[in-house]
Amino acid sequence: MRSCCTFQALGLEMRMCSVVLGGLLLNTQSAITITATSARNQHRLNMSFTVEERGNPNTLSYRLFFKNADGKYVSPFHDIPMYADESQNIFHLVVEVPRWTNSKMEIATKDPLNPIKQDVKKGNLRYVANVFPHKGYIWNYGAIPQTWEDPGHKDGDTGCCGDNDPIDVCEIGTKVCSRGEVIKVKVLGVLAMIDEGETDWKVMAINVEDPEAKDLNDIGDIQRLRPGYLEATVDWFRRYKVPDGKPENQFAFNGEFKDKDFAIETIKSTHGFWKALISEKTNAGGLNCKNTCVSAGDSPFYCSTDEAKAVVGGTSPYGTEDHIPCSVDKWFYYEKK
Ligand SMILES: [Mg+2]
Repeated sequence: MRSCCTFQALGLEMRMCSVVLGGLLLNTQSAITITATSARNQHRLNMSFTVEERGNPNTLSYRLFFKNADGKYVSPFHDIPMYADESQNIFHLVVEVPRWTNSKMEIATKDPLNPIKQDVKKGNLRYVANVFPHKGYIWNYGAIPQTWEDPGHKDGDTGCCGDNDPIDVCEIGTKVCSRGEVIKVKVLGVLAMIDEGETDWKVMAINVEDPEAKDLNDIGDIQRLRPGYLEATVDWFRRYKVPDGKPENQFAFNGEFKDKDFAIETIKSTHGFWKALISEKTNAGGLNCKNTCVSAGDSPFYCSTDEAKAVVGGTSPYGTEDHIPCSVDKWFYYEKK
């Protein structure tokens, strides 16, 4: 058991290094190739959670399922606790997209056990465009578990309803995280993006294990210690869909970030909406609320270990990967309005 864990830890180190290397070289395709040559589809990503890959990477069949420390399958949407440490306001973050990569990977909110899979548009895998001077996502990007932006709730500040997803996070630490990694973050602020009429909060946060995390405690500290990062963040979100023929995104509060306290209250309100969802007090719509850890009394969507195993067993086994198309590395220029 001990040597197995050591091996898995070593495997993670190799995987992370390859992604870092890919980031520096701005060559995500080679990074992913190196990762896949490990020929393993299970990775221990921290003390508490592991991920298991299914299907073929970079194809429609790819899925990333989560297990807890007991080896039981869990939903990253419903079963991973929102708080890592409630007394310190430290939250869990499920990393969906490692920094510098383009694959629009996300928690599949409508699939049983909510594995991470790549978003699909018109039958094609979705990659975000590189709008100059950005390359892929410029943060580790992911979601806080046990939160939900309720599409039936009109936000008092933005005047728009929620986007039906868990709340999004931009993690600004120096480490490039792995897809599916569950990290602990300190919240620093929030941006109120309006995406085609829906409220889509973007929480700014930093990995508590970052060497400089102790110096970053509120939104002003990002401005002071990471000059340009907040402006780049607004620019990224404003323009990233324009190459796909969409309009620029809009922002509430004139595109200004709100502070840490506002951000924490926003996250707490989305946790309240999630609680209503998981206890069937709100209509779930098309969302899949199957879970294995929310206590049965609190959720009518509780499912057994065997049922969860059958869900994973019903997906394609892990197999060889496809290449990411070269066109994903293209750079787009256009004049700012
Ligand atoms: Mg969102």
